[in-house]
Amino acid sequence: MAKVSPLEIYKCLPGINCKKCGVESCMAFASQLIERNKTYEDCEPLMKDEKFAEKKRKLIEIVTPPVKEITLGTGERACSIGGEEVMYRHELTFFNQSALFIDISDDIPFDEITEKMTRISNFKIERVGQELTLDGIVIRDKSGDPAKFGEAVVTVIENSDMPVMICSYNLENLEMGAEIAAGKRALLFAATIDNWEDVAEIAIKHECPVVASAPDDIEALGNLVQNLNSKGIEDIVLDIGTFPMGDKHGVTLENMAMIRRLAIENNNKLFGYPILSLPMVAWMNNEDEVKAAIDETILASTLLLRFSDIMVLHSLEMFSLLPLLTLRQNIYTDPRMPIQVDAGVYNIGKPDENSPVLLTTNFALTYYTVASDIESTKKDCYLLVVNTEGLAVEPAMAGTRLTGSLIKETIEESNLGEKVKHRKIIIPGMAARISGEIEDLTGWEVIVGPLDSSRIGAFLDEKWKVN
Ligand code: SF4
Repeated sequence: MAKVSPLEIYKCLPGINCKKCGVESCMAFASQLIERNKTYEDCEPLMKDEKFAEKKRKLIEIVTPPVKEITLGTGERACSIGGEEVMYRHELTFFNQSALFIDISDDIPFDEITEKMTRISNFKIERVGQELTLDGIVIRDKSGDPAKFGEAVVTVIENSDMPVMICSYNLENLEMGAEIAAGKRALLFAATIDNWEDVAEIAIKHECPVVASAPDDIEALGNLVQNLNSKGIEDIVLDIGTFPMGDKHGVTLENMAMIRRLAIENNNKLFGYPILSLPMVAWMNNEDEVKAAIDETILASTLLLRFSDIMVLHSLEMFSLLPLLTLRQNIYTDPRMPIQVDAGVYNIGKPDENSPVLLTTNFALTYYTVASDIESTKKDCYLLVVNTEGLAVEPAMAGTRLTGSLIKETIEESNLGEKVKHRKIIIPGMAARISGEIEDLTGWEVIVGPLDSSRIGAFLDEKWKVN
């Protein structure tokens, strides 16, 4: 779908502009489909009227992403993986960030299972206004004991709303886990070339997505997918193996890139599924826990850059997860839409009618940098944030997005005039050249602030006077 234009999609729509989809015209709907704000199912005439059957068939063909999108779990914390259309983010965007699942093995004491599950569910970091969280829990049959494994699965399923992956090479245990997790769209690990028929039966019976696993053997993986497809299984996640060390690690990355290339560039449907990786293998034979956690993060980072749609990790340490979550946030931010905060007036500290008013743009990184620089001065201020569509001050000035009229509009809409009795506004040094324009349009006195927000404290000490 990446290279499909709205016009090509429009040709597959009824073209009657009936507005039943909630947008003004079929052409507008075509643009919404490309952005994935709508799905083809939202076009009622296309779905219901037999005379559009051929258009419908063609539309589905062109809008279905080359990498299938698969949903794991149910409810609010369900997560989607795959669904990608391009090899590299700058070609369009990535739609679903890599899901991070944390492993819990069934051989640890019951209390520890509960405690780890709770920490995974509640794990949260806030960064540039976004909450970064984990996505799921892997329940791993390490003990081989059905009673222990069953108890671990029951504990997680009954006490967490997170998606789960049931992991066992023992078919009876796998089936028991799938049964306990029935209705939760648990991911089953794993169908192999030896057991695929039995695992397929379990997946069909419990309507679960399933991992197809063929370590370091792309041909075998294709055959395995074909076999699962022949049983009607379409919700598949690919595991080509994760090797942590030396040349073998290079092979892992090459295999994953090859799979994604086959799906996107060669349109090979056998490989058009999300890819699983297991950075937790960094813990194998690694007795130093800190080193293992760091190795896991390094390994996961490389896999994240090489198309891993879902990863299984072991460490829950902040020092190992923070870099990974930050990297993931950077990669999966839509390059067409910089992270933004809402325009308006923000209180920093407890400002009153005599407090300084400073101005910045709504690019999230700019906002949080300026806000934290003001906070560190311990001075109470108002921060007026202008909607420059996510541009920082310098590009907003270059692109004439930061203008006197926009600032006037924001002052009026935010009722800033009612919050302060003075009429002074401090603008970023880089916006100095529009200071006259702002004064003319708003009637507010403009004070040109420092070029760098880290100097705000000293600047306010020297320049801020209400009268
Ligand atoms: S519902 Fe379908 S036919 Fe009607 S306007 Fe939307 S896209 Fe066009």
